[in-house]
Amino acid sequence: MKILVPVKRVVDYNVRVRVRADGSGIETGNVKMSMNPFDEIALEEAVRLKEKGIATEVLAVSIGVPQTRDTLRTALAMGADRALLVALPQDADQDLEPLCVARILAKIVDSEKVDLVIAGKQAIDNDMNATGQMLAAALGWGQGTYASAVDVAEGTVLVTREVDGGLQTLRLKIPAVITTDLRLNQPRYVALPAIMKAKKKTIEEMPLEVLGIDITPRLEVLKTVEPPARQAGVKVHSVDELLSKLKNEAGVL
Ligand code: AMP
Repeated sequence: MKILVPVKRVVDYNVRVRVRADGSGIETGNVKMSMNPFDEIALEEAVRLKEKGIATEVLAVSIGVPQTRDTLRTALAMGADRALLVALPQDADQDLEPLCVARILAKIVDSEKVDLVIAGKQAIDNDMNATGQMLAAALGWGQGTYASAVDVAEGTVLVTREVDGGLQTLRLKIPAVITTDLRLNQPRYVALPAIMKAKKKTIEEMPLEVLGIDITPRLEVLKTVEPPARQAGVKVHSVDELLSKLKNEAGVL
């Protein structure tokens, strides 16, 4: 079974995101970038399936500017067998929309004869939460989104999903698309020897043009703003004072 894991290069989750002065988006120059955390979880799951002898190959794919090679290098160090960069020009200032990403991935799924896609449930930079679902629709495959457990057996995959008030388990026929939730697994720590070994591996590259996909944006970002600053809190000295403030100032009692 061949597994494709799409991995996106995003602003590192520890970085405090800053909005560009013109409000056109967020600042990415000189900012630490990393693999989208949900994609790390997806990759970890795929590598575990390989280690259990269920998967035969794990292919990591990223669509992005040339620096995205670093993200793919990390994927190789985590245990991906192959890495493919669908290269956007260096000056591409545009975040590809989920529909374009899904169409690009669908083409690669076809040409690589992939059996299972494990993607992140959402990219933490744009919070679209749409690519996996669109990819499943484009391929005509079943989808198990927000997976918190994955169990592959005999041409099917059981996907447990955390839903309001409990757990839901779906049985999908393979080929299928899965998207990962936070509790699916704890991605492994990548040790130095694995990083060194990954440096020697080849990252395959394909220019976006050869896929013939129109990446013209369909959505228009009107503006991006910082969240409103939180007002400072007040310390109260007694329960009576608290009650009085809730009653007379906040008007909630
Ligand atoms: P989104 O729908 O944008 O929130 O992204 C959901 C998932 O789609 C991510 O967690 C990735 O697995 C995948 N994805 C989105 N954009 C890209 C990209 N440019 N390259 C590779 N994978 C991507």
